[in-house]
Amino acid sequence: MIVRNCDIDIESLNMKDVININLLQTFQDNFAESMDIASITVDRNGSPLTSPSSYTSFCIDYVHSTPIGDSRCAECHKKAGEIAVQTGKPYIYTCHAGLIDFAAPILINGHQIGTILGGQVLTKIPDEATYRKVAREIQVNEDKLVDSVKKIKITTEKNIRAAAELLYIYANSLSKIGYEELKLKNSSKLLENEVSRTNLLLEESKRANELMTQQFSILSHELKTPLNIIFSSLQLLESCYKASSLVPETGMFLKYSNIMKQNCYRLTRLINNIVDMNKIELGFSSLNLKNSNIIEVIENITLSVVEHASLKNISIVFDTDVEEKIISCDSEKIERIMLNLLSNAIKFTEAGGSVIVSICDKNDYILISVKDSGIGIPEDMLEKIFDTFTQVDGSLTRNTEGSGIGLSIVKSFTEMHGGEVTAKSQLGKGSDFIIKMPVNNIENESNTDNQEDSSLNDNEEKVNMEFSDVYL
Ligand code: ADP
Repeated sequence: MIVRNCDIDIESLNMKDVININLLQTFQDNFAESMDIASITVDRNGSPLTSPSSYTSFCIDYVHSTPIGDSRCAECHKKAGEIAVQTGKPYIYTCHAGLIDFAAPILINGHQIGTILGGQVLTKIPDEATYRKVAREIQVNEDKLVDSVKKIKITTEKNIRAAAELLYIYANSLSKIGYEELKLKNSSKLLENEVSRTNLLLEESKRANELMTQQFSILSHELKTPLNIIFSSLQLLESCYKASSLVPETGMFLKYSNIMKQNCYRLTRLINNIVDMNKIELGFSSLNLKNSNIIEVIENITLSVVEHASLKNISIVFDTDVEEKIISCDSEKIERIMLNLLSNAIKFTEAGGSVIVSICDKNDYILISVKDSGIGIPEDMLEKIFDTFTQVDGSLTRNTEGSGIGLSIVKSFTEMHGGEVTAKSQLGKGSDFIIKMPVNNIENESNTDNQEDSSLNDNEEKVNMEFSDVYL
């Protein structure tokens, strides 16, 4: 597997992130004791990371004992560290107090993360005058400084170089190993993240697959049922015709042709809904906006379903607090919204029940309510019913037919108008679907729609289609 990004920002890396400081301290202490050469490790800013190993009394008790001596030491270390970084190698030099020191850079990919400082030795017997001068400059007792310099180890330059190289190689090996370990850790973290991301995607695609299978079975059922009915009706008429070698009697023919017609409506409705839903999902659905009297649009479409409702002994009441409200809307889509809500209200209401359509004018918006006295919707389903393919009773053996597409189209068409749809319901008592529609007008008067053109008969086909699965 490819790890895309495990880059580490070396500039912000601390020595402690890559080096085991305890291990370095142990090595540094043992090394300093066996070689009798002092050393200490500092970070890139010069702050100590290890405790000093085998520091001389000359440095601790005298040179570092005065502020001036201390600051001259710090200056010296800084300069030596910079030169060491520039060359990328240990740098050996004589310090301001006359001892031989070294500075070895600790690098990662050429970037300095720290420095090993060491030395505090001499290569020849000290010359007293030099150290008296130093003592005066750093303001310490001349005799005591001279006495202490006499105790400094005298060694060869070759030995000092070897010591510096050894510490340099060890510290840089530690940092390199640490850095590689850190990279590995980061890579494995990245891999872990990648694995959990892939698992999440897998879960999502599994869920999407399950949903698709479920939707496919709903659609297959919805397509197959009317087709089977049409097919059986045709078979019946055919066998009747063959048996009697005569055209079936008119009553029988009408009965089965009606059944076939109703199921053709069901198929057409379902296919229209699927087409609309796809258009909405792909963003191709648009509104044909015209200034219309929305009260009239809603009243006409409500009146068109009265006859259908009465077949189920359900009464329809239309109530409005205003006779005219011109708003810019797509009347066809408003009719689709209303027919969907009305057919649901009738479908899910028992005989003897009622459906009330009411409109309330709130100036900036109108409220359209379709309220039934039907079976109601459980609280936990109220939000979900607007999702595509959601049915409260999703089993294929349910009492009512339906694909669960209608309300999602209602929601989309309402939102396309800048409105919103909500549902309130009480199980066993009924449901109330409320549409809040903003009152907008388009300037161009020629766009005003004349509802008188749309007669009750024009709506018949639409109603037949929308109500095709109500009485099954
Ligand atoms: P369907 O074609 O199944 O009716 P809808 O999207 O129109 O699809 O409705 C989704 C589900 O919401 C329905 O199957 C039903 O369970 C529930 N529902 C919708 N309207 C009502 C209502 N007025 N009373 C009770 N349940 C309803």
